[in-house]
Amino acid sequence: MTARARVYASITSRHAPPPPATRRLGRALVLGGSVAGLMAARVLADHADEVLVIEPDDAEVGAGPRPGVPQGSQVHALLAAGQLQLDRWFPGFTAQAEAGGALPSTPADVEFYIDGVARPSVEITDVPGLLSSRPFLESLIRRRTLEFPGIRVLTGRATGLRIEDGAVVGATYAPNGDAGAGVDLDADLVVDATGRGSRLADWLEQAGWSAPPLVRMPIKLNYATAVYRRDPKVLDTTTLVNVSLTTPVPGRLPRTGGFVAAEDDRWIVLVAGYDQDRPERSLEDFTTRCRRDFPGMFGDIVDHCELLSDVVTYHQADSRRRDYDTLARFPARLIVAGDAVASFNPVYGQGMTSAMLHASCLSAYLRGEAADMLGSGSGGGAAPAEAAASANGSGAPSAAAPAPSGPDLSLPAKPYFDLVRVIVDAAWQTSTFPDLALPHVPGPYPRGYRIAKRVSESMLVGSVIDPELNLRLSRVTGMLTHPDTLMSPGTVVRSLRSGRRFRKANAA
Ligand SMILES: Cc1cc2nc3c(=O)[nH]c(=O)nc-3n(C[C@H](O)[C@H](O)[C@H](O)COP(=O)(O)OP(=O)(O)OC[C@H]3O[C@@H](n4cnc5c(N)ncnc54)[C@H](O)[C@@H]3O)c2cc1C
Repeated sequence: MTARARVYASITSRHAPPPPATRRLGRALVLGGSVAGLMAARVLADHADEVLVIEPDDAEVGAGPRPGVPQGSQVHALLAAGQLQLDRWFPGFTAQAEAGGALPSTPADVEFYIDGVARPSVEITDVPGLLSSRPFLESLIRRRTLEFPGIRVLTGRATGLRIEDGAVVGATYAPNGDAGAGVDLDADLVVDATGRGSRLADWLEQAGWSAPPLVRMPIKLNYATAVYRRDPKVLDTTTLVNVSLTTPVPGRLPRTGGFVAAEDDRWIVLVAGYDQDRPERSLEDFTTRCRRDFPGMFGDIVDHCELLSDVVTYHQADSRRRDYDTLARFPARLIVAGDAVASFNPVYGQGMTSAMLHASCLSAYLRGEAADMLGSGSGGGAAPAEAAASANGSGAPSAAAPAPSGPDLSLPAKPYFDLVRVIVDAAWQTSTFPDLALPHVPGPYPRGYRIAKRVSESMLVGSVIDPELNLRLSRVTGMLTHPDTLMSPGTVVRSLRSGRRFRKANAA
């Protein structure tokens, strides 16, 4: 196993660590109360007396899509690794979600086609998957998070950071409806979880720090979604079907579509195109695409089931990442999580799971385990009590008495960002690599792209007829294991062989 695959395995652990004996932080601030912010708040509850989540949307439990998460109306699949993290940080989450209306999903319920070829679904964990809408999932995460007595939501918008002597000492926020200059909040640690549109880079530059390097891959993805009443007489399945035309051929555009059963007897139906292939908001365009571009089941739903929503479109220009780990100077006591660090082509369903794994990185960092996990001794190990005390004295306003172990909070949280990088690299590799095959995507190409492309194409088609290969690949796409696990000589040879067998069988 490669070093980063080992780190990845530690981060994705299913076992929740016991809470530390002492909380080292007085107050932590989390900017943004969506998946990344809520998960970070949950982890922080083990380490801080008080966790304040600043979020402009007054989202009630069970509420629908909200303005701060405009993508919330679109299909959101929860990958296996994310679900295990939810059960890790909120014991019994899966059972509770099912009791609340989410649907369990086994491989038998899932049909998956790639370029018209059915790819068998395999069991990659011992827990059935969860099918639900995004607002349903988020509202349960929120409810479980707010059960921790130290966590509260402040309804308003973060407007800036407060940095003194090289460390973040708080943030400013404008409560909803308050047109004033904003309110200063003190904190021992601040987490930016404000999503793809995070303004942290601007805030850092305004304060004389550097913005992180921003890498973009222009995917130009266009989604359209509509919701239908699920009717077993039309389709007797709770199926999630995903169809990807990944290999563009003349006369055929790369397209993805899917439908997923959700709570309250609904199907959420998605059609997506790239570049100039833009689904419209009209029902006519939506139903035409369902009938014309996808298997008959799509047409059955749109023709025979009750429509429950408008058609909602969403355009995502790029996959993007901000590599905070590479910055030579960065304020201490500052964390960035979720889409604010990296956001990917959503057809791979990695975003929420990545945010959950960032929370696990935060836990490892605050417990002083990061250096051991990274095998680097890069400053994430136990800090002597005096060092922690001096860090608290140098600008952090309300730190609790230092615990005997944990990271040196007077230093930037580099060990945290090093762990996050492992997660970002893995998700980036798995999603941007196939996207490079899209005709309109100009790069950036990784080193050794052509050889890796040959292997990965063989792996994809080989996995259709090779159950072991399918299992290994599905564990990576489910974010349970690192993509390096597919690069062992044994798996590469197996991929080439199985790919050859598949092509021979299908040429005949
Ligand atoms: C079309 C589409 C489909 C997707 N499908 C999937 C999928 O199938 N599976 C999956 O796992 N992921 C999917 N994703 C990705 C997923 O939506 C994100 O990765 C995930 O929501 C990231 O969570 P986040 O908390 O980092 O950011 P977000 O969910 O974007 O939330 C950001 C939060 O910050 C708040 N905020 C913004 N500015 C401020 C401020 N100044 N102060 C305070 N709060 C602020 C917002 O109100 C919001 O609550 C999809 C994304 C898109 C665009």
